[in-house]
Amino acid sequence: MGTDLIEPTRTNPVVVARGVRRVFGEQLVLDGLDLDIAPGEFVALLGRSGSGKSTFLRALGALDAEVEGHLRVPAQQAIVFQDPRLLPWQKVLTNVNIGRPDNAQTRADALAALDEVQLASKAKAWPRTLSGGEAQRVALARALVREPELLLLDEPFGALDALTRIKMHGLLQQLVAKYRPAVLLVTHDVDEAILLADRVIVLTDGAISLSSPVEIPKPRSRDSREFNELRRHLLTELG
Ligand code: ADP
Ligand code: MG
Repeated sequence: MGTDLIEPTRTNPVVVARGVRRVFGEQLVLDGLDLDIAPGEFVALLGRSGSGKSTFLRALGALDAEVEGHLRVPAQQAIVFQDPRLLPWQKVLTNVNIGRPDNAQTRADALAALDEVQLASKAKAWPRTLSGGEAQRVALARALVREPELLLLDEPFGALDALTRIKMHGLLQQLVAKYRPAVLLVTHDVDEAILLADRVIVLTDGAISLSSPVEIPKPRSRDSREFNELRRHLLTELG
């Protein structure tokens, strides 16, 4: 099969995955994976390197025609990867609008999205003049301008330095509070997962081996007892 693209409704989950399977040659990477994501829910997906996190995200992003099982995701969705994937021959504003009609309204929307990530001043800059963090903010603006019901993030801050990463966490939380997409954040950073998510899940041997709500009130402190206990629990699960 491929991935069914649905129009979202207020009550249904935005993501329904049942028995999702993906095989590469001899290798069974996803082996009966089940997951629901509620509208506006922020889920962090943890798992060892090579556990199939990106494979699952690509399936949700309707980028994998060969995935098997039942998978429903909203048509209105956007994905951000670890590298910003900006087109170097187009200016920042055009990159934000890529694949959309180019008119006064969409340009105004793109500029507003750039303003949300505090980069309106870079609208006419070339991508190569941006820092890594700025380029990733452009990628976030490019995602948000599509007003996604589902935002897929594949280790979006993995290439950034620690300070920039902390700033990006704050920015992402602001953006999510404003736009209210459901989010699936793939990360290998347990603290990042606990800081940001409503629920953390762990992918082991091709299936979800742990799913835990994060009920710690925000803003969350890495030093709190609850934070440390959940961190220890997740690290044990990750092996
Ligand atoms: P993660 O994102 O958790 O690190 P991936 O989903 O990228 O893991 O990869 C899971 C496994 O699937 C790895 O062993 C990887 O080599 C394999 N894999 C991923 N994509 C392909 C592909 N296009 N062809 C063959 N093997 C792949
Ligand atoms: Mg990956």
